[in-house]
Amino acid sequence: MRSDDSPSRRTVGRLAPSPTGGLHLGHARTFLIAWLASRSEGGRMILRIEDLDSTRVRAEARRGMIDDLQWLGLDWDEGPDIGGDQGPYVQSERIERYATALDRLQADQRVYPCTCTRAEIARAASAPHSEDEGPSYPGTCSGRSADEAGPLHHRPFAWRFRVPEGVVSWDDAVLGPSIGDPRQVGGDFLVARNTIGPSYQLAVVVDDAAMGINQVIRGDDLVSSTPRQILLYQALGLQPPTFGHVPLAVDPGGRRLAKRDGSLKLATLRETGVDPRRLVGALLQSCGWSDSVQPAWPREWIGRVDLARLRPEPWVVTPEWIQSLQNGRP
Ligand code: GLU
Ligand code: ZN
Repeated sequence: MRSDDSPSRRTVGRLAPSPTGGLHLGHARTFLIAWLASRSEGGRMILRIEDLDSTRVRAEARRGMIDDLQWLGLDWDEGPDIGGDQGPYVQSERIERYATALDRLQADQRVYPCTCTRAEIARAASAPHSEDEGPSYPGTCSGRSADEAGPLHHRPFAWRFRVPEGVVSWDDAVLGPSIGDPRQVGGDFLVARNTIGPSYQLAVVVDDAAMGINQVIRGDDLVSSTPRQILLYQALGLQPPTFGHVPLAVDPGGRRLAKRDGSLKLATLRETGVDPRRLVGALLQSCGWSDSVQPAWPREWIGRVDLARLRPEPWVVTPEWIQSLQNGRP
């Protein structure tokens, strides 16, 4: 799929779920696509658990996610259940690595300490934004240098990345040539909080780089994070991976699939006796890669998918679709 690969560069992809609830059909589709993308290039696969958001993580969810992925017929070469050279594969066990990266960003003055409260950040914003991530940070604290954090330690503050001027571009494996302007979307972004620890943006870059991941296929709800992550790769002197963003699964009203809807959960499908091969066939049909539903294991599709020909619109999951899956005839 990549034309600029040197023969020595073996593809390494990853599945990076957050254990905040059971996986649903949208995850199944995105992970199936990510798995096939790497395996079709003869690539390796890594499973990493992203559990930094302690307010949302549920202890029992990790085992359930692994069961869900295995039920679907996906496997991995390194992960929390089987180990590997680049472990641990659970983010909460990798905290010191993020601290090292933050030290470097501080030393290079790529970050500054921000003491704004959320309310202050919202009030100071003037430009309207369509993003659901909230308004762009107005740069209130950007005059501070990284060395000025010392006296702030008695109160909560955040480290923000100083976003440079200009657009960031990448060649998306699904969307094609893409650009983003992180100054317009979010502005200087958070990489850590002194009381809570690293942000998603910093942890994901540090881990993907440390684990040798060179292919990141994920949902397109994360597309606005990609320019930020590319900036972090550059600031840390690291090589960014190939990114590919897969259209999300939505309900008939156009809303993102909600974790609270049990009928969409893989665990429910599994318990009601749905054949995972049928689900895989139905997901591949939804991608536009086959005309009919042909039950199959993911491994039977290795080498037969083309990310550039993935159906570009959101995948609408209807109750009828789920019903027919349960009846064995989608
Ligand atoms: N752990 C993130 C999530 O489940 C995905 C991160 C990523 O793919 O970059 O939303
Ligand atoms: Zn601030």
